[in-house]
Amino acid sequence: MKVGIVGAGMVGSSVGFALVLRGVASEIVLVDHNPDLAQAQAEDIAHAVPFAQPTRVRAGGYDALEGAEVIIIAAGVPQKPGEDRMSLLGRNAAVFGDVIAETNRVARDAILLIASNPVDIMTEVALQASGLPAARVFGSGTILDTARFRYLLGQHLNVAAQSVHAYVLGEHGDSEVLAWSSARSGCETLTDFADQVGAPITDAVRQEVDQKVRRAAYRIIEGKGATWYGIGAGLARIVQAIRDDQRAVMTVSARVSEIEGIHDVTLSLPRVVGRAGVAETLIPHLSFAEATALRASAGMLRETAQKLL
Ligand code: ADP
Repeated sequence: MKVGIVGAGMVGSSVGFALVLRGVASEIVLVDHNPDLAQAQAEDIAHAVPFAQPTRVRAGGYDALEGAEVIIIAAGVPQKPGEDRMSLLGRNAAVFGDVIAETNRVARDAILLIASNPVDIMTEVALQASGLPAARVFGSGTILDTARFRYLLGQHLNVAAQSVHAYVLGEHGDSEVLAWSSARSGCETLTDFADQVGAPITDAVRQEVDQKVRRAAYRIIEGKGATWYGIGAGLARIVQAIRDDQRAVMTVSARVSEIEGIHDVTLSLPRVVGRAGVAETLIPHLSFAEATALRASAGMLRETAQKLL
């Protein structure tokens, strides 16, 4: 499968590298505003190919994206000193306007997979700018937050993260909601499983896991300025689900017509992802507190998108 990546910075190059290591793409094309950067990243990633999976990796202009089935958009501009969030968002929305005019011109049948942050808002921008069906424009959303939640619960229960089914919903950011009440391990509710293995989910455990999931990006940014490997691997995983029509359940960010009373908002919910993009959106059963938190998260995202667009 041919995969395009627009924005060859840290996130764009990491997803290219992850795609090569996993053998997900037959061809990868990197496009950047700065062609020298795209060229250098493509060459560097191509040098990993002999140690990984056969993949053609190259840099190019937008015309080189022709025939791409998935285009990952990881382009963006850095925040200027003193710049507020809305102004940064406005500049990033303008970048997306330019990028999507080009992807629409050369690869209108592609799925657009959005990685730029704030990912929920940028996915909404991409959806509106592209005019494509909502199933084919979605963002990485809380895929990584969900992975961290499952991993931490797995550690606590001493069980594989793959056997933990637990989701992070809403915004990929401060207002995200850890759906504790619907979490399962194997076929048991989380609390039943935890009691059976003698590792109860106390308030202290909840708080610790919540903080670790919610604060992970902040901790990494403190240490290295930004995050890229985890999200690169997560994006490659999404591309694999598309390529193989896996119909895997993942928390990606996409438009939903209504959630908790908020209409037409783009956020993360568990979704069935396959060849056609988002095939189904699942509405989880939530506790009152979780539903209230999800409504607040959705409301905030809807308001931000309305102010911007
Ligand atoms: P991140 O850590 O999110 O990857 P970077 O700043 O490393 O952030 O990467 C963002 C990339 O997006 C940069 O390489 C930048 O040149 C690129 N970019 C910015 N504007 C555009 C644009 N209009 N078209 C294509 N690429 C762009």
